[in-house]
Amino acid sequence: MAIKGTDIVKKLPEGGKKNCKQCGLPTCFAFAMKLASGGVSLDKCPYLAAEVKAELADALAPPVKPVTVGTGATAFTIGDEQVMYRHEKTFVHQPALAVMVSDDEPEADIDDKISKLKELQFTWVGKTLKADMLAVRFNSGDRSKYEALVKKACNAVDCPLLMMAEDTDALLAAHSMCADRYPALYPVTAAGIEKVIAAVKTNPATVVIKADNVEDLALLTLKLKENGIENIVMDPGSRDLLSAVRDQTLVRRASLKQSFRPLGYPTIGFPCFMTQDRMSEIIMASMFIIKYAGIIVLSHIDAHTLLPVLAQRLNIYTDPRIPMSMEENIYPVNNPDAGSPVLITSNWALTYFLVSSEVEASKVPAWLLVKEAGGLGILTAWAAGKFSGDTIAPFVKKSGIEGKVNHRRLVIPGKVARIRGELMEGLPEWDIIVGPGDANEIPGYLPKLVKSWNQ
Ligand code: SF4
Repeated sequence: MAIKGTDIVKKLPEGGKKNCKQCGLPTCFAFAMKLASGGVSLDKCPYLAAEVKAELADALAPPVKPVTVGTGATAFTIGDEQVMYRHEKTFVHQPALAVMVSDDEPEADIDDKISKLKELQFTWVGKTLKADMLAVRFNSGDRSKYEALVKKACNAVDCPLLMMAEDTDALLAAHSMCADRYPALYPVTAAGIEKVIAAVKTNPATVVIKADNVEDLALLTLKLKENGIENIVMDPGSRDLLSAVRDQTLVRRASLKQSFRPLGYPTIGFPCFMTQDRMSEIIMASMFIIKYAGIIVLSHIDAHTLLPVLAQRLNIYTDPRIPMSMEENIYPVNNPDAGSPVLITSNWALTYFLVSSEVEASKVPAWLLVKEAGGLGILTAWAAGKFSGDTIAPFVKKSGIEGKVNHRRLVIPGKVARIRGELMEGLPEWDIIVGPGDANEIPGYLPKLVKSWNQ
């Protein structure tokens, strides 16, 4: 449970009665309340004793520590989660998806996985979705073979790397080959932790610990923290669905509900080790997306298995309080020109993608006007007064569409046919055409409309 402002104020100078205003706030009480909500940093008060500062910093730290893996533009952050259930508020940092290559796999399979990791990406509600990480596993027993694979991986991809080797010496050798990439190292166990601590103190990396149970994980994180290492990810070792759900839930609950700091780190899940069946593996990955994993390691990725997982991840990690929306703009579909029809829709992302994909399917070049409507669908936006004739007419005029087309014909969604009259008043020079009520009617409707204009 996060510390409250009323508890913080008691720890401030003179029991919270100094009120010198040097922090920029009128009173110590105001500072304490703002500090509790994350609106100000501790160092704004110059009078805090070092031990009070350390105590408050610990109490104010996020229950699940944010951990960054990799460097540069492809680095990702996991953790920093605040809630057990996505409907309470929002999940913050989506889990990274990794694909694993092993040094005992055929070269062609490794190349295939690497090229899919680099090339498979999908545009979905305006976002580019793709896997994030390459896991490089030592499984042949031949160190030179593993090192060759590590070298190949480093050269082939610029995404973050997860080095996987049960042999701690092999793991640290791999680390030294790509230390500048700030890789993640797995598994770090009680047996190898001293060596890893020594290496990571020199060359920082994310330490992915593994234990046989959640209790033992806590002992390992305490040891790392004592040594100043906090970029930690945890594997409770569960390798079946039931125990994985149990352990992931236990870890999240302990960190959020019991403020148990030793378990306040992101976790990793290994669907790749839980089943031989690729579809079952995807189901396991779906479970880890919902149940708290920060990194999910897959044995393979293919378009038909990766897309559902990416779409699910996007849905779970979007803020349920904020509708997914598109920017208000003119969107060309199928390379339109000055004679192409103009359609208008609202800026709810799903509405946009349904309409634009149906226009695309019609093969008719067209201009799609997307009007800001609070991220709502057509009828809801109309009911809220955000997709009415009064608001659409000024948008059409300022959008710039009049400079792009040599006609004045605007197709409005059939669901809001009733705004035609208002629009005819607001846009007297435009012919307002009531289009289909459902997007799936567009491919049949648009070619006929254009044909009728050309007759
Ligand atoms: S600077 Fe510190 S002592 Fe002064 S008002 Fe702010 S919190 Fe209180």
